[in-house]
Amino acid sequence: MLEEAGTLDELRDMLGLCTRCRLSEGRNKIVFGYGNPEARLMFVGEAPGKAEDAQGLPFVGPAGRLLDELLAGIGLARKDVYITNVVKCRPPGNRDPLPEETETCNPFLAGQIRLIRPSIVCQLGRIAASVMMKRSVQMTKMHGQRLIGPGYFNVPVFHPAAALRTPATRGLLVEDFANLKKYLDEDQAPPEPPSPEPEQMGLF
Ligand code: SF4
Repeated sequence: MLEEAGTLDELRDMLGLCTRCRLSEGRNKIVFGYGNPEARLMFVGEAPGKAEDAQGLPFVGPAGRLLDELLAGIGLARKDVYITNVVKCRPPGNRDPLPEETETCNPFLAGQIRLIRPSIVCQLGRIAASVMMKRSVQMTKMHGQRLIGPGYFNVPVFHPAAALRTPATRGLLVEDFANLKKYLDEDQAPPEPPSPEPEQMGLF
């Protein structure tokens, strides 16, 4: 049914006041996503936090301000990219989302990717990268690399919140955003999506 959505607005309407998983119990606002529906570069974080849950927008707290700075550093703004999370509701106490929660919410992220058709999906943090790539991602080894995904390239980077705690990580993020800019400028054709579409397969 979700594959019938032809626009992000239609997909958001299908989400409705979602109660498909128990994260619905503690949330204030669903954080669907924000940005350019035709973005070549899409960011996917782990889950909304307190500020995001209050405002219904992704990455609006301190980590979001750093994300804005990093984007500005490569000549981009939020309106140029699309930003979302693997789960659309805030986990209680900001705990990691559970596998059943990411799995239940997965079709909406897959739908966003199908409709936006980004050439690069940049995962912000280990959790988002591990969920989307379906394996344990060691960020220290894999950050900033361009990896083949199903119809797009994956580029995992450290979560901006980690960079707020550790100056060295901030330096790595700056380097990785420079890599993102380079990948965009190179404009390498993204890998072919699998058939059927990932959303129909329940895969990213
Ligand atoms: S996290 Fe996703 S599946 Fe769970 S209630 Fe929120 S929108 Fe629905």
